[in-house]
Amino acid sequence: MAHHPAGGIAARCFAIALGCLALSGCTSVGVQTGMRHALDYGPRMQLRVCVLHTPDVKPARVDALIRAVNDEFADYGIEVVVPWSRPWQRAGFSHERLFDDIARRELEAPCDRLVAFVDRNAGDALWGLLMPEVLGMVDEATHTRGYVVATRASLNQLFVSPAKATVHEFYHLLGCPHAESMDACYQRIAALKQARAEGADFVPGVDGEGEFVMTREMANRTLHLALAGQPGM
Ligand SMILES: [Zn+2]
Repeated sequence: MAHHPAGGIAARCFAIALGCLALSGCTSVGVQTGMRHALDYGPRMQLRVCVLHTPDVKPARVDALIRAVNDEFADYGIEVVVPWSRPWQRAGFSHERLFDDIARRELEAPCDRLVAFVDRNAGDALWGLLMPEVLGMVDEATHTRGYVVATRASLNQLFVSPAKATVHEFYHLLGCPHAESMDACYQRIAALKQARAEGADFVPGVDGEGEFVMTREMANRTLHLALAGQPGM
């Protein structure tokens, strides 16, 4: 888990997950720099993010969180749209179980990414007393699936708001790593937009090596192989 130098939470993040956002450790994709406005991000692009949400996360809540991402991504000429949003029951108590369920789902057309917005429950509040809370995750094998804790019900979230957590995870969905500065992230975003083939119906994923995953089918295959290769999942 090279992306989680702080150790504590890294040890608890299972092998394929990159974007676990918690108070200790992995909290940042880097500080903004002047490069943000110096790069050419090319023409505008839509990122189609299909949404699963637990019953307590209302559509207006999802809209507000997506709006926060769109405010952040406007500088890159990226607009997040939601082709569909479906109710969903979280698979389990632990973040590993929860994420596993999302990762195993097929990415279906026209989705470029699949994100679950989950609420907190009493079990999670207890969980938060025992260990640093995980506020979101994105898979490292393709950067196409993730989840975000969308409701504010814990002390940690006084410091990391659901909107901030959402923006953070959506940067991972563009392939951005944790870093000191955002320079690598800006370059990754510009390269991702450029890599998208003319007329293609898929915004490429990004694999663990930073290579683009050009088709939805390949993203599904790559992630399923990664899951199959993880013992104990
Ligand atoms: Zn992260």
